[in-house]
Formats: sequence, C-alpha cells, structure tokens
Amino acid sequence: MDGNIPKGLAEGGDVREICEACESKDLYPVLEAVENTGFQYEMVCCRACGLIQLSRVISEGRKGSLIWEGEFWDKPDLSYEQGRMGRHKKLLSLLKRYEVTGGQLLDVGCSFGGLLNVAMEMGFSVCGVDVSPVAIDYLRSECHIEAFYSVVDAAQKKGLFDVVVCRSTLFYFRSPIEALRHMRDALKPKGLLVIETQINRAWIIKLIKRMEKFCGRKLVSQSTLQSLIDSSFYSFGTNNLTFMLQRAGFNIIGLHNSYYGLLQLKPTLYSTAIALAKAVLNVLSFVIWVASLGHYKTAPVVAFYATRD
Ligand SMILES: [Zn+2]
Repeated sequence: MDGNIPKGLAEGGDVREICEACESKDLYPVLEAVENTGFQYEMVCCRACGLIQLSRVISEGRKGSLIWEGEFWDKPDLSYEQGRMGRHKKLLSLLKRYEVTGGQLLDVGCSFGGLLNVAMEMGFSVCGVDVSPVAIDYLRSECHIEAFYSVVDAAQKKGLFDVVVCRSTLFYFRSPIEALRHMRDALKPKGLLVIETQINRAWIIKLIKRMEKFCGRKLVSQSTLQSLIDSSFYSFGTNNLTFMLQRAGFNIIGLHNSYYGLLQLKPTLYSTAIALAKAVLNVLSFVIWVASLGHYKTAPVVAFYATRD
C-alpha cells in the first residue's frame, strides 16, 4: 500500500478505557460488533455521556481495516453515488442559511465524488479526502478533482477551506476528536464545518439487549445489530457529539434533522430486511422526537453546522 495511506486505525490489542467524548472511565460493555470483513470488536457505553465506542479488537491477528467496505470499494460504484445525490443537494442547500454560497470546499470521506460534483455545480472549488486508493485514483484521473488521503495533506497542498463537510464518516475515525481538530485546523477563521451522522441509536442496542434478557436467547446476530445502528468505532448521541465538537474548538450554529428514508444499495433479502427494520426504527425515532417536543433527541440522522472559533 502507498505510504500515504493511513495505517489501520485499530491495531490488535489496542484497548480504549476512556470515553472519547467526556474522558470518563465508567464504561460498560454493550455489543460485540462484526464487520463484513470479519473484523470483530467489543463496544462499550459511557455511563456519563452515553457515547458508545470501540473498546478492544476481538478478531485475532486482524489489523483494523474496518474503514474498508470490502468489494464495495474495489471499483467505482456510481449507482451508489446516484442514490445519494438527493442527500448531497439537501445538505449543501442548507449552506445558504449560513451565508455560505461559494469558496473552497473539502469533503472528508468523499468516496467517488458525488457530493463534490454537486458542490461544483453550486459554484464551489472542491477537494476530496478518502482512505480508498480506488476512490482517489478515480477522482484524480476521471473527474479531474484533487483528492488526498488525509485532511492534513489536503490543507498543506490546497491551503485553508471555507467549508469542510464530513458525512456518515466521523464514526470511522479511531479518534473523532483528533479528526475534528484536523478539520478545524483545515478551516479558515469563521469557516464552516458540516458534520452529518447517524445518531442516537444507543436505545436500539439497549432495547434489543433487554428483549434478549427477557427471552433468554439471541434475537439478532451482532452484525445485524451493527447494521441497524449504522456505526463503526462509535455510535454518537446528540449530547456527546455536541461536547466533542466544542472540545475540538467549534461553535455549533445549527442542527438539522436529516432523515432520508430508504436507501437500497444491494437489494438482497437480507439488505431489504435491514432497510425495512431501519425504516421502522427511524419512524419510531421520529415519532418519539416529535411527541416529546424534541426532549428525547432520537432523530436518526443529524447534521451539525459549526464554525471554528
Ligand atoms: Zn462519556
């Protein structure tokens, strides 16, 4: 592999005993997660702030390559990008509310450039960051878009950005705080960060675990549970992600619920069942959120808009 590519983010034997968000040591095990690469790890929940995070790697001899999604990244998958166009437009259209209508935009976790293409159409100069060499090569050779393996590289080569976008990616970083600090350093003063992530899923794990205790047997496989909560190293909550953003030097200026509905990537029986189960959970989340007048922050996908101080 190219020396510029970040090494596996979780090394075997790497154990985290401190909450990434609030630094509490009061953590309890909630889930043994299994990636589709076979990479297996234990996740723990912080009693103080509710953040769910990877605590230790279980699969022996596996270096953490969970940012890889197997064959999915082996070649450009433009149907995937097509399926996400509506999301990109929705997310970027909100920039106007914050009086950002142009400038340099960096997309962290840019994949094959779907969001970057939408941003270009809106008049931004764009640059991407991804860990996939396939995506980087594709962007450089086919789309003539500048792309790098890290935020630090991008800022060194391109200078500071007006907007940094990071969607459905923050939970792939071994240290989101460190990643957010790099994004902060890549922004111009008063520059805007857009973080979008699946969020507030801890209740799904707790509900399933409670049902399993009641039934006395396993109801879903760990990988199914992992698919339902849409996380990797972390499963964030609104409060702990807010705290992390503040610790990384951001002022949150807007929070948007951005649920998209069903997105079908590979229509198999399993993926369809997961998509339907997610839809039910998301509707349930939304109902609870509205019925409690926003008190229970169960929105399934949230976009944070934040400025660096
Ligand atoms: Zn915590």
